[in-house]
Amino acid sequence: MFRIQQLQWLGIGVAAVGCVLLGAASTMSNLAEHDRHRHGAKELARFVVLLDAANAVSAERGPSNSAMGAERSQAGHMNQVLAVQRLQTDRAIAKVAEEYHSYMATEDGEAAFSALMSELAQGRAAVDAVTATDYDQRTTEQAATAIMSMFDAADRAAEIRNIVSDYIVAQVPQLAGEIMLANHASALREHEGRLGSYVVLALMSAPNQDERFTQLMGQSEGIVHSLWMTGLSMADDLLGTPAVKALIEDVQADFFQGSLVLAHETIEKHAGQNTLSPWDFTAKFMPGLRSSELLRTAIVEAAIDALDADADKTMRSVINSVTLTTLVLLALISAAILLRRMLFAPLMQLHEHVLALARGDLGEPAPIGGVAREVSDIADGLATLRKHQAEKRALEQEQRQLNRQLRRMADTDTLTGLLNRRALLNRVDAIFRRADRIGESVGVALFDIDHFKAINDTHGHAVGDEVLAGVSRLINGALRTGDALARIGGEEFVLVLRHVDEAKAMDLLENYRQLLETTAVQRKMGIKVTASFGVAIRQAGSRLSWDEIFSISDQRLYVAKGSGRNRVIASGYSSATRRRA
Ligand code: GH3
Ligand code: MG
Ligand code: MG
Repeated sequence: MFRIQQLQWLGIGVAAVGCVLLGAASTMSNLAEHDRHRHGAKELARFVVLLDAANAVSAERGPSNSAMGAERSQAGHMNQVLAVQRLQTDRAIAKVAEEYHSYMATEDGEAAFSALMSELAQGRAAVDAVTATDYDQRTTEQAATAIMSMFDAADRAAEIRNIVSDYIVAQVPQLAGEIMLANHASALREHEGRLGSYVVLALMSAPNQDERFTQLMGQSEGIVHSLWMTGLSMADDLLGTPAVKALIEDVQADFFQGSLVLAHETIEKHAGQNTLSPWDFTAKFMPGLRSSELLRTAIVEAAIDALDADADKTMRSVINSVTLTTLVLLALISAAILLRRMLFAPLMQLHEHVLALARGDLGEPAPIGGVAREVSDIADGLATLRKHQAEKRALEQEQRQLNRQLRRMADTDTLTGLLNRRALLNRVDAIFRRADRIGESVGVALFDIDHFKAINDTHGHAVGDEVLAGVSRLINGALRTGDALARIGGEEFVLVLRHVDEAKAMDLLENYRQLLETTAVQRKMGIKVTASFGVAIRQAGSRLSWDEIFSISDQRLYVAKGSGRNRVIASGYSSATRRRA
């Protein structure tokens, strides 16, 4: 069986362990969640570098177009602008190589990276070939080849972007939507650029030969529209941030109502009196693509912010879990300590007190303080019980004493302190039974004080009483151990003598008789008395009853009185007679 306190410790222990386990589980899961968010944010920040590089490859086509379409007077400036843009592209690619160096070290990564570099080099070489050619000698075909070649470079960059996207989504699946949206925005910017490039090529062609490029432009427009529609519907669900929303409106205004309209107008006017040179068109068309670039950046930033906010939220949850667990643990421990102090420890003390009370130990125990009210009520009840028990015990003691006194009084002759008739009969009963059991003879003697009436008459009743008490004291003092002396009437006494034959009884009684005869039983007046004795022997194995044996002794006492008093009469002979003889 468990003790109540062990049960308490067990209960508190189980609750504490459960609380710690729950708290730990919640903390661990929140920490893991937090790590995932932080990791996702880091991956996205890295992804920006890649998107920037892909964008740089696309953006390089603007200055490339301008350089290829530039007349002699503008060539120097345009070549410079292109050189700066190429430097930016190279830097952006170098940054990718740095950020993704472990990926670049893989076989696939290296292949994708060198494909990009070689396509880019080819595209640039083709562009350089055009710009190196005299303005009048340049053919549209030559320019188209260079631009298409730059498209290939952009495609390689998009490939790397897609591979890395897949890798990130595999690592942080919750980013799939954001990555896809960012890629959408990146592709949107790419195809908007391509649309512009086809317009430039159309402008470089003779009006009757621009159909191939206006068709390609139409294809690009289709791609741009479909990217825009799917991107828009996704963005609404995923990232409703104000920055993204504002940029979506900017793209509408800058590209769809700006650059795209310009492209259509330019193509329409080409057949007639076209006022825009390729260079002018590019200069007016390109700014309309800026908001699409910004949109891509804003999407990634919004996603990073959302992940950071999630990470902060999970960190707060971690702190809350730990705090809550600690508080619950503290509460449990406090409850345990309070319960122990106020309930269990005092209960154990009370338990000891109850056991002490059961053993009959009525001593007042040390008081128990600072306990629950229920416990102090029990202690009070116990104190009351202890008090009642003490009172009861005192009463019982008094009762026992009274009983003893009463029994003594009931068995005792008040004047002489000897056994009375009732007590004598009880005593005789015990002596006879013992005698019968062990085969012993018993002597029963009666004696009566001689002429006692005369003492009363002469000295008064009170002196008579003193004489009776004196006789009793004297004979009682001379008795053998185990013999009994009782007063059964006024001045009549009985002696029960154990283990005596008639001769022995005679001897003893004669001694008593002489002792009486020679002793002043009332010292003040020196009063002496004599007594007459009658004795009968109840032999061993005799069936004589008390009444029968008493009756024989009584008859012999009568004989003693009749034959002169102050003598002992047994079966037909007396000590006095013998003495006188
Ligand atoms: P005998 O030698 O024949 O025995 O003569 P006796 O005078 O002793 O006998 P009797 O029977 O004539 O008188 C007994 C007296 O004992 C009578 C009574 O007044 C007296 N007596 C009985 N009981 C008491 C007592 O308790 N106290 C006193 N003082 N006297 C008592
Ligand atoms: Mg008498
Ligand atoms: Mg008498």
